[in-house]
Amino acid sequence: MLIQGGTVWTPEGARRADLRVAGEAIAEIGDLAPLPGESVVDAAGLHVLPGMIDAHVHIDDTIGPYDLADTFSSASTLALATGVTTLAGFITQRPGETLSDALKRCRARARGRTRCDVRFHLTPTEWPWPWAEVERLVAAGCTTFKLYTTYREAGLFTSYERLAVVMERLAPLGARLLVHCEDDDVLRAVDVSAIDPGDAHEHARLRPEAAEVAAVERVLDLAARTGCPVHIVHVSTADAVARIAAARSHAAVTCETAPHYLQLTDAALSERNGHRLVCTPPLRAAATRARLEADAAAGAFDLFATDHCAFTKADKDAGRGDVRAVPSGLAGIGALVPMLFELLVVRHHLGLGELATRLAANPAKLLGVYPRKGAIAAGSDADLVVVDSAGPQRPVVSTVADAYETYPGRTTSWDVRHVLLRGEAVVTDGALVEPARPTGQVLA
Ligand SMILES: [Zn+2]
Repeated sequence: MLIQGGTVWTPEGARRADLRVAGEAIAEIGDLAPLPGESVVDAAGLHVLPGMIDAHVHIDDTIGPYDLADTFSSASTLALATGVTTLAGFITQRPGETLSDALKRCRARARGRTRCDVRFHLTPTEWPWPWAEVERLVAAGCTTFKLYTTYREAGLFTSYERLAVVMERLAPLGARLLVHCEDDDVLRAVDVSAIDPGDAHEHARLRPEAAEVAAVERVLDLAARTGCPVHIVHVSTADAVARIAAARSHAAVTCETAPHYLQLTDAALSERNGHRLVCTPPLRAAATRARLEADAAAGAFDLFATDHCAFTKADKDAGRGDVRAVPSGLAGIGALVPMLFELLVVRHHLGLGELATRLAANPAKLLGVYPRKGAIAAGSDADLVVVDSAGPQRPVVSTVADAYETYPGRTTSWDVRHVLLRGEAVVTDGALVEPARPTGQVLA
């Protein structure tokens, strides 16, 4: 297949070029003429970008008593239509389950159902970790682990002392640790007697900015001491961003934020049905959001990811009346690329290269799949998005599941015309191709 006449965004920048796909890979980029019988996609006036990657999604999983609203099928279908070709989900080890069995369980759920390629981050919940098994898994390509400095009730809390042990062990393996940073002591020090549980805005008071900043400081210190590469997920405060920036000179640290921290504020929690926007970390004050937007435009975040975690409308509303009973998480998977396009390219006049870097290359590096994924280069997987950046305004759609829309009323001119997944046309002329069986693969 030949994609002809588009503006192609390679790691070196943008240029007018033709791009040949052979099998599952990009064969060549240049001034190319169609071969006899070769199918041609006319990309004149359009941009050709690497397939985007959402490196932080919760789908097809059970969290506490709740079955999440999105399945691999529904989530990957919407993602693909916006130009996302790879998703990274999370696996939490269940009691009595080996890490390998946990991986098998989740890979089996994705296989045959996902239209995007899928990779997983692993959360061991038993202590000590089975180090020999961890070593084998890392060698087999499972290079990202995730831990939490909070969620004691859910059995996910890890102390800083144990984090230090994990980082010392992971550092020589070349693995990376993802950390959810909210300091549990700071959270527990919040005076709950002063909280009005009927007011959804109290969620922001229950999980103050200081908790994130305190945990980020501790984790950065451990990263510097152990040399372990660390990725801070869903950073929601500008103070944490500043500390991460300062640590980059002496620690292997990267970070992400989610579109909702850039687009929404805690004022939304005070509105009618504010409980529907309860997520953790919470939406922040307007001043913090504004600083985060400036940080995003200045390149402070290595990548953006949605933390898509859609609960059903019924589950979300069942907690109305007591904010502590509302399941915490927002839909976002379909909004990642459109919202970042609107923010960085339309509003801040940055080039589409920002999207290629922070929604494709850097997430691929985090996942350990670069440059197979995340780059337009000869030999890379032919995961490609052909897009009209000045299409008709259409609503942003965060989820097609039975969950609340996170960005009602928002529109975008991000108009995906074609998507290729490993060389296969999965979106053609703006319409999803309906395969007999979803063709997403589970990556090692
Ligand atoms: Zn998450």
